[in-house]
Amino acid sequence: MTEFETDLSASDDFDVAPVRLTVDLGALADNWREMARRSGRARAAAVVKADAYGLGIEDCGTALYEAGARDFFVAVAQEGATLRAYAPDARIYVLSGIWPGQEAIFYEHGLVPVLASEEQLAFWMSVTAEHGDHPCALQVDTGFNRLGLPPEEAIAFADDVSRPASFSPVLVLSHLHNGDTPSSDLNRRQLESFRRVAEAFEGIEASLSASAGIFLGPEYRFDLTRPGIALYGGEAVAGEPNPMKPVARAEARIIQIRDAKKGETVSYGGTHQLSRDSRLAIAAAGYADGYLRSLSGSGVPLRQVVEHGAFGFVAGRKVPVVGRITMDLTIFDVTDIAPSEIRAGDYIELFGPNMPLDDVARAAGTIGYELLTGLGLRYERRYVYPDS
Ligand SMILES: *Cc1c(COP(=O)(O)O)cnc(C)c1O
Repeated sequence: MTEFETDLSASDDFDVAPVRLTVDLGALADNWREMARRSGRARAAAVVKADAYGLGIEDCGTALYEAGARDFFVAVAQEGATLRAYAPDARIYVLSGIWPGQEAIFYEHGLVPVLASEEQLAFWMSVTAEHGDHPCALQVDTGFNRLGLPPEEAIAFADDVSRPASFSPVLVLSHLHNGDTPSSDLNRRQLESFRRVAEAFEGIEASLSASAGIFLGPEYRFDLTRPGIALYGGEAVAGEPNPMKPVARAEARIIQIRDAKKGETVSYGGTHQLSRDSRLAIAAAGYADGYLRSLSGSGVPLRQVVEHGAFGFVAGRKVPVVGRITMDLTIFDVTDIAPSEIRAGDYIELFGPNMPLDDVARAAGTIGYELLTGLGLRYERRYVYPDS
């Protein structure tokens, strides 16, 4: 038996955490500046919904604000109220709009509802009539069939002389459904539809493009762009090299390394049979940590999209997941790493600078957005601040 030194004084939680997440705020700020640059004459906002794509709205919001962002988009009012403390004079848009009972949070925190239906418009008019002028935005649906007024209704509204003079949106926006596929002519159709709306709302700022749309060309950028995933290092355009810097690194601790014989099986269901004598690393992350069960290794009939499961990165190498991922644990095949180069206690990178987020997502049949927003509550987080 090996002797261990033991110590009851507290150690840094991050150094011993079963699962941990490092968020590089310098890379986040650089990515926002890069998207601002690529937005050309348009101003770049920052989309920080779903707790800044799972990475933490307080720290990410602060870093984006310090990088220069003054327009933010959240999904729901509560996210906007949280962000307000970190972005004091920014414009904060709430994409789901407003409904009765939410008036106070919008007025108190100066949030801008993105109105998406006749019903919301009518409600908002009665709110402003009673409580005073307050900025709003208008969403137009140009083909997504999600939120927004049909273009004809929006244009009729723009031309409606009977609406109160005080009631004027500060932004009209729409959202592309195929922006990640530059070759799709659906983008151009949405662009043309949105252009007519933007012209009807002359003098009011217009916004069409999220991360992917920014790459489609200058005519898609209008006055304000809305990058989200690209800020967090994710891939915006399918099948193109990703120019963004990685922001998040998720790691799990190896808690045991074991030898297993050729012919033995691994994990629940015994679906993976070893084709050689192997060394297996048992890592302390599972599907409860957002390491999706559909990332399980070969031989597991959970997934139709790709044959293999995910890879982790440890000791300078990619190593495959073998067998089914379980709630708290995942098994990696580390046979190809020299025993002197890996031991229990080491961390294996699930995704990050060495193991691209989107490669891991693809292995699960999903997208980087879902991996980031599903990370779960157990990660010990460390935020790395820029040098300046
Ligand atoms: C989420 C969202 C965005 C950001 O999209 P990304 O693809 O993450 O850049 C922009 N606009 C709207 C309306 C959204 O819902």
